[in-house]
Amino acid sequence: MKKIKIFSSNCLSIWSQKICYVSPINWMLKLHHVKFSASKDEYQWTDPYFLVSPEEFDLEKTYNMLLEEEIDVVAFSVYIWNKKEFFEMAEFFKKKNPNLTIIVGGPELDAHRDKEFFRKYDFIDWVIYGEAEIAFSRLLDHLAGHEVNLLNVISKQGFISEHEPVNKKDDILKYSIYIEFENEITKFLKGLRDRGVFYALCWETTKGCPFLCSFCDWSSGLHHKVRIWGKDELIPNWKKELNLFSKIGVPSIYWTNPNVGLTPQDTEIVDYICDLKQSKKHTPIFISTQFSKTKKEHSYSLLDKMLTYQVTAGLKFDLQDLDPVVLDLIDRPEIEWEYHKTLIKNILDKHSKVKVWGERTNPVWCNFIWGMPGQTLSHIRKNMIESGSLGMFPTHHIFELLPNSPAAEPAYQEKYQMKIKRVYLNVADGVDMHPGPISSHWANAVVENFTLSNKDWFTGVFLFNLYGALTDYNGVQSDHRQAGLGNEENYFDNSLVILNKVINDSYIHFLETDRIEVFFKDRAYGFQNWVGSRRHFLNDLFGNDEDKLFNIRVSLDIPPDIQDNFQHTTKYGLTPENLQNFVLEKS
Ligand code: SF4
Repeated sequence: MKKIKIFSSNCLSIWSQKICYVSPINWMLKLHHVKFSASKDEYQWTDPYFLVSPEEFDLEKTYNMLLEEEIDVVAFSVYIWNKKEFFEMAEFFKKKNPNLTIIVGGPELDAHRDKEFFRKYDFIDWVIYGEAEIAFSRLLDHLAGHEVNLLNVISKQGFISEHEPVNKKDDILKYSIYIEFENEITKFLKGLRDRGVFYALCWETTKGCPFLCSFCDWSSGLHHKVRIWGKDELIPNWKKELNLFSKIGVPSIYWTNPNVGLTPQDTEIVDYICDLKQSKKHTPIFISTQFSKTKKEHSYSLLDKMLTYQVTAGLKFDLQDLDPVVLDLIDRPEIEWEYHKTLIKNILDKHSKVKVWGERTNPVWCNFIWGMPGQTLSHIRKNMIESGSLGMFPTHHIFELLPNSPAAEPAYQEKYQMKIKRVYLNVADGVDMHPGPISSHWANAVVENFTLSNKDWFTGVFLFNLYGALTDYNGVQSDHRQAGLGNEENYFDNSLVILNKVINDSYIHFLETDRIEVFFKDRAYGFQNWVGSRRHFLNDLFGNDEDKLFNIRVSLDIPPDIQDNFQHTTKYGLTPENLQNFVLEKS
């Protein structure tokens, strides 16, 4: 009997939010194996390993766990946010025990495209790409000595299996992992709670996305077929699962479908969760739902209902860019902004002032990507102004190249003259936790393209992150979040002029070190650290008072030892306490 352990993790690059996004990958893989494989009686599945935060990363301790449990096979679920940690672990384990079988899978792996993969990562034995349920079961069968047709796997020894972009057999879809493994999953989630971890359970009711956005690697870029979990069941899986989540007190759900509102059952799901709420039973809070890009009226009517019944916290809109030319270049389906804006405004007028977070109103934010073909500095300016005018925080994520996305194709990069560089974004050095959607991290970033020079790209990242620090990244509990919202035009134009030297010095520092941070008077700072002692005068960038603007220039000349004797006291946004209190209050 061989023993298996599956490794997965939280999204480590946004750990600053202190929410743990729990992926149920262990049970997805296990479900297929115990139901359909030839080797189901030849393996023992042990408790999964889940890396909650970068602080927990400990090679020796994790290896000792494998020794104690006498594990034979480990498999890592690899994403952009954990590749570094999981590869380090895999390498460490292999050195300690060359007989351990190491399997990796997940959208961040490109062994099927990169001929050099196993030369770079010779501690890995097998790579699975694309949908893993069937591929993993077959691989386990093979490792146990059964004759099987392997699927979507590549080995260090040079074996390449059959390639099946989308699984032809959908047998697994009629099952619910939560119902099949209720006791195990309940125990696992209770374990997280007992450790004081606030989690959002990742929950999907469909598989796949019909779109092809250039920056995205959904389904590892292999197919665009949408399938529904348990759709032919008498009682649909989603209903049984929501009942279970209510029974076991799941605090929060991240509904990971990329297009809520696209399938008819989404309306039933939203109705059901609102009914659950009315029944006074415990109702999980939905966070960060992605709504359909095309059926906007319908999907926003679902959002409206969820907000009315307070089964969702916060409003988020994924926009990427407002310019249809840019959206066209990245193959992003979207409705026209002027009309979209009126739909968003209607929602915000009705709900954005609802105080569901204690003393504060709902957080409202939207997501853009910065560095895409067609963008110029005027795009980030417009994105910020338009969002700010609606009271939304305009998050600009760096365009990070995902290896299985359409943008990773050399022809795409050549066409749009994209330059890629590994860069470090220093949001806040040494500050344990900060509000907002982005933590300091290394990124494989698109730093230039045919419309955006490297200097303008850097300037955009700089201006957004400084703005984020000044407004506490729209932190819900922050006193500073209102400082800038609605005044982005002043901020952008004033900063370009008044902070010109700081931006230029920081750019030179970036060219020398690959670090995106504020370089000021011979010292580098994380954006929040630099803002700390200077906030009182930098906030005047949001106004148009000439005297105050002049004063900013003068204040920037004060010797740094006076300014830097400052204790960072930012109030935080999405803390576990805030969320726990919110759930307790509302359940
Ligand atoms: S970004 Fe969303 S809509 Fe676009 S391909 Fe990815 S999952 Fe689909």
